[in-house]
Amino acid sequence: MTADLRNAKSFLFYQTEHPRPVLDRAEGIYMWDQDGNRFIDGSSGAMVCNIGHSNPHVLDAMRRQMEKSTFGYRLHFVTEASESLAAKMCEHAWPGMDRVFFVSGGSEAVESAMKLARQHAVATGQGSRWKVISRWPSYHGCTLGALAVTGYDALTDPFTPMMQVMPKVPAPTAWLDGLDPDDPATGAHYAAMLEAKIIEEGPETVLAFLVEPVGGASTGALVPPKGYMEAVREICTRHGVLLIHDEVMSGGGRLGTLYGGRNWNAAPDIMAVSKGFGAGYVPLGAIVARGDLVEAVLAKGGFLHGFTYAGNPLACAAGLAVIEEIERQGMMQNSLSTGALLKAELVKLMDRFPFIGDVRGMGMLLAFEIVADRKTRAPLAPTVKAFDRIVEAAYRRGLIVYSRRSRGGYSGDHILVAPPMITTPAQVGEIMERLTGALA
Ligand code: PMP
Repeated sequence: MTADLRNAKSFLFYQTEHPRPVLDRAEGIYMWDQDGNRFIDGSSGAMVCNIGHSNPHVLDAMRRQMEKSTFGYRLHFVTEASESLAAKMCEHAWPGMDRVFFVSGGSEAVESAMKLARQHAVATGQGSRWKVISRWPSYHGCTLGALAVTGYDALTDPFTPMMQVMPKVPAPTAWLDGLDPDDPATGAHYAAMLEAKIIEEGPETVLAFLVEPVGGASTGALVPPKGYMEAVREICTRHGVLLIHDEVMSGGGRLGTLYGGRNWNAAPDIMAVSKGFGAGYVPLGAIVARGDLVEAVLAKGGFLHGFTYAGNPLACAAGLAVIEEIERQGMMQNSLSTGALLKAELVKLMDRFPFIGDVRGMGMLLAFEIVADRKTRAPLAPTVKAFDRIVEAAYRRGLIVYSRRSRGGYSGDHILVAPPMITTPAQVGEIMERLTGALA
């Protein structure tokens, strides 16, 4: 089809300043538009296409599944695909986290995690617990429940009459607050805010704490300061609060582990995953939960929750093939080694561009922050439209990156650099050449 699709009837969640190119095909880390222009997928979409585009093993698995069956309603059938994928997902999870509930996206996964936690509280005589504490800033999804725990005022304000806004604690933004992330006192400082909030709310009312192991869109690859994850776990346990990891962006292998949180010795009770598990091939999400928690809920009449398309065989067959490819090609190891190279290159940019205030992240989940002043960490005024300008300049050079106004959406900009895990050192060179040109 060669029609000009730029005036299409579908609409985006915001008006982009320039029309977006019309996607034609994609392979590996590259994407081509209908005019034949080639782009590097420098942020894997929105940290989705982790294993690269058009992976032959995944396409094959999808074809084979499509020829057998594409849908079996979950209350009528289980499938080989859903059970194999669930088993594979548990293999990578913490011991004891051995039950999986499928959904079709990240918001659905976060909703499901919170509803499982709540039903567990009800099932175990802790019905007074209902508050899910999360962090500010944060992004956990766009459905009303996931939005209620999202710390991003511009997104939540219009909907507050329709939902119960949940309590928030500050995200551990050590860089922004002028603290040393490697000092254990810093981790303890932010964890103490969680404990203070639990006490302020009344521990008997607090159901769960929801946290991204490494922050994604809202905080720009925020790695927790030393000691934070462990302290958070200890505080939750002590107050009978469940710990939920939102692994929607940090999961899928880019942090060197299938679940990013496994980099710390602090197991959650429930994890929400999506993006990298369907890897751009299918809409797929899930929660992975402690078995005893699930059993307690099932024993009291079942989990009152579910989405029609959840666990469909096509999505599960693709999801299984994605993990098989991650394992077979050693993509998680590559994420760590090539990610370290990419991060070192991003750090070098700070010598040349004084407006880069910070370079953050680990593995292949990296970001840099744009500031007016590196010393004070003051953001550029929104009117400068720093991220729009950088993104457009990168587009013109054939590089796609993901950017956000950070700090809750009011001030500050960060650019996420998170190419597929298959990126080679030579391709890091290509990315840096384009990025440097765009920043200049
Ligand atoms: N949680 C996190 C951490 C996310 O980054 C996102 C999506 N950016 C979501 C949840 C929501 O996922 P989805 O858009 O698939 O509903």
